[in-house]
Amino acid sequence: MRKPLIAANWKMNKTIGEALSFAGVFAERLYRRFPDKNIPVDVALFPSFLSIPALCALFANEPIHIGAQNMHWEKSGAFTGEVAPYMLKDAGCAFVILGHSERRHIFGETDEDVIKKVRAALDHGLNPVICVGETLEEREADETDRVVSRMVKAAFSVVDPEELRSVTVAYEPVWAIGTGREARPDDAEDVILGIRKTVDAIYGQDTSENLRVLYGGSVKSKNVRSFMSRESVDGVLVGGASLDPEEFFKIVDEGYKARRKFL
Ligand code: PEP
Repeated sequence: MRKPLIAANWKMNKTIGEALSFAGVFAERLYRRFPDKNIPVDVALFPSFLSIPALCALFANEPIHIGAQNMHWEKSGAFTGEVAPYMLKDAGCAFVILGHSERRHIFGETDEDVIKKVRAALDHGLNPVICVGETLEEREADETDRVVSRMVKAAFSVVDPEELRSVTVAYEPVWAIGTGREARPDDAEDVILGIRKTVDAIYGQDTSENLRVLYGGSVKSKNVRSFMSRESVDGVLVGGASLDPEEFFKIVDEGYKARRKFL
């Protein structure tokens, strides 16, 4: 069975000090709930680049993973302002978010960029969390499946079958991100099942059983169960509601309770 993943995307929030004070409160709550530190779900924090070293040092031998929100695909060179995959690996990152809708829509990131980043992440031993999702206009034009399957096919064009276990897909409808308007769990499940079908069509029947697929978009402690109680939804990527350590702990706890029957 796939281990669930509950991930906090802090976006451009929190100083190093604020990240460390979140970490202290959150870890205390998590370890009180799971005193043997045997956490039944993977938990990952995606702070800004600046807070990565401090959090990686703090959680070096702990079951709380750290990831980056983006990276460049090249190994090194004249790319002012960018961060290379080996730098993230060296700092202690386990994961990297790629193709987040804010990267695609605000910074013009394309499927081609995401393809290069996915390959670079895997080559450097980083687990990519690949974000896909449709805009409101695309949903209203009944184009959700076409858009999502285009993004999935592009990203997986460089993934070998044996690498599927290292990859996570996050289905994040753009209109649900940061709006307080989450997708209906039925709709999220439909799209996620479509993602699994696309992956099965590329790699062969049932191969998507090895792939974690998350939902993201206005998730909070009050609605996380409605998503994670669906068998095909292996976890959540949380933005706004992950900034508060008590709330993010509740999301982990509620998510785990929803998932327990499948573990
Ligand atoms: C996100 O940033 O990936 C996200 C899902 O944000 P929010 O939870 O705030 O909608």
